[in-house]
Amino acid sequence: MSNIFDIELAQRHPFATSMVTSAINSQRLSHAYLLSGRAPQDKWTFARFVAAYLNCANLAANNDRACHLSGIPEKDQCVNCKWINEGKHPQAWLTLTSEGSKSGKIAVEKARLLSDELSKHSEFFRVVIVEDASQEAFHRPSANALLKTIEDPGSRCLFFLFATREDDVLPTVVSRCQVIPMQSPPEKPTALAASILKTGSADVTSTTPELKNFADEVKKIFKARDSHLNLYALDLSRQIQIAIEEYEHEHPGVVVLDLVTNLEICRIGERASTDRTAAGYLADLLSLAEELKLQLVHYVSSKAAIETFVLSWWQLRRAAGC
Ligand SMILES: [Zn+2]
Repeated sequence: MSNIFDIELAQRHPFATSMVTSAINSQRLSHAYLLSGRAPQDKWTFARFVAAYLNCANLAANNDRACHLSGIPEKDQCVNCKWINEGKHPQAWLTLTSEGSKSGKIAVEKARLLSDELSKHSEFFRVVIVEDASQEAFHRPSANALLKTIEDPGSRCLFFLFATREDDVLPTVVSRCQVIPMQSPPEKPTALAASILKTGSADVTSTTPELKNFADEVKKIFKARDSHLNLYALDLSRQIQIAIEEYEHEHPGVVVLDLVTNLEICRIGERASTDRTAAGYLADLLSLAEELKLQLVHYVSSKAAIETFVLSWWQLRRAAGC
């Protein structure tokens, strides 16, 4: 369905790419997105794809795809795509970074220059990257300047704010953004994710046959409708523990959690593209899973962490009516 992102990025970040694709398709693009998670390179790539799509001069001729997605050789690409891909489009690609600042924080002048620039008229759809939106990156005056700009950015302007954790960002900034968690790149991602996306359901037998039984059990638990939801949560938590123990991989927790969250994305992904509650629920779930992955990589004992994860998950699920 995506004409905006390439297949690799869509496979690594099914939630983020489908959210923004459907927002653009339904002309309900927010003016600010906070991309959380530990995938710095992918966040830049993500933003670049969006900027190219919003500014490409050849969309109509290329079947609604920006130049580089339609396989046009570089020399024939439109100048907007070329400049955006090189990160140097003077109007469509604006960045706010701490580069060149002695304190390591974003300089106030830079934040003010940005709002001046955005107050001017432009024929381009301006995409603004704030490379580090955590509160540590700002002095108060530059945070205020940024807040004002996000609040009243003018038309045809889109902010992408990056942060490892949503909690690192000032609540006043978060409240002006739509938060999209991006999964950190797993060790062995694409084969599994590709098979899930291709079939639209998690047919994991071809790539991770060891996890087929686990996937079947998870699907059964997902289907169960009962008042004893906590029992299902405990059952799921046990299944996850067993799968992690038995799956031979350097980071089994990452693979198992990607699988289990992708199964949930498959289950309600369609609905999430039109239903804000469902989308918020998936976003919260992915954040929870990212936290747990980090814990599993750093700590040996996982039982309590997995149980807490699943119980929080189930609460979210119930609250969202999913
Ligand atoms: Zn183009």
